[in-house]
Amino acid sequence: MKLSGQGKLELGLVKNVAARWQSLGVPQSDHNWFGFVKDMKVSYRKYRIEVKEKVTHDTIYLQLASLNNSHMIVPPGQHIHIKQILEGMEITRSYTPVTNFSGLNENGRRLEFLIKIYKDGAVTPVIDQLNKGDEMEISDYTGDFTTEKLETSTIYLLAAGTGITPMMSILPEISSSTKIYLLNFNKTSQDVMWKQRLEHFFAKRENSCQFINIYSEENMSSEKSEYTGRISKDLLTKIVTSQNDPRLACICGPKGFVSTAERLLKDDFKFSSDQIHLFQG
Ligand SMILES: Cc1cc2nc3c(=O)[nH]c(=O)nc-3n(C[C@H](O)[C@H](O)[C@H](O)COP(=O)(O)OP(=O)(O)OC[C@H]3O[C@@H](n4cnc5c(N)ncnc54)[C@H](O)[C@@H]3O)c2cc1C
Repeated sequence: MKLSGQGKLELGLVKNVAARWQSLGVPQSDHNWFGFVKDMKVSYRKYRIEVKEKVTHDTIYLQLASLNNSHMIVPPGQHIHIKQILEGMEITRSYTPVTNFSGLNENGRRLEFLIKIYKDGAVTPVIDQLNKGDEMEISDYTGDFTTEKLETSTIYLLAAGTGITPMMSILPEISSSTKIYLLNFNKTSQDVMWKQRLEHFFAKRENSCQFINIYSEENMSSEKSEYTGRISKDLLTKIVTSQNDPRLACICGPKGFVSTAERLLKDDFKFSSDQIHLFQG
């Protein structure tokens, strides 16, 4: 079938015999599975670091390419696990790829991450030691976010620190008719990741969408913001307007931020549980 106006041809291939191919290739480890996905053991694949760059004073950008030619397109809002062996123990941490937002189109052969390095953390100091050419183990993706949730008229995205990464991954999926308020909480303006890219994204949107940076340590910021301080009822009152329209709030950040944001939205702004999505591990 020719898809008119797209210059593309769609080829439909039909098996002669409706059965599993027995002699074509070899399944990757743990891929020979015909049970439920939820019952599958998490499998890890090797990736190589292709690009490592500093993004802020404590955040790095990693671009990884799969080593065995496998392709993995991580759906918006879902995350993977990175595994490290530390002192003989296997330790995993969750990370949300930002490839959907960056526009890098490699059909799932590459993944991009923004990772904050905690000097006293278990896994991130080890990741920080890695360089271009080093290998990492990345799991299958997981998560309970579905893009149907985005079919609403107003979306509030409340992110603190690296909580911005799932927001980046869902932003391109939001319909142009939906009003978006991205509330990006950081200590100072020097902590904001990919600020220019986010500004560029919002500049292209119509429908008076807003990208609002909120700094808790404004006196240490190189830039002023209309909104300052920590998340509070007073601050949200200036932004959260629609009470009756269909709406969704997505929240991601440290535990204290997530629980405060959820409580305020429910108690003071009458969000129901199904109007709130929490990005958690
Ligand atoms: C779904 C999901 C997606 C995520 N996506 C990203 C992402 O895209 N980018 C990103 O940078 N991070 C992301 N994270 C966070 C990431 O998974 C790790 O938690 C983070 O990288 C820290 O790992 P770490 O092992 O270096 O630090 P940890 O050892 O876990 O410590 C982190 C900090 O917490 C402190 N700490 C640890 N335990 C305690 C405790 N019991 N009490 C008080 N303080 C404590 C440590 O001192 C340190 O300062 C995500 C998390 C989730 C759940």
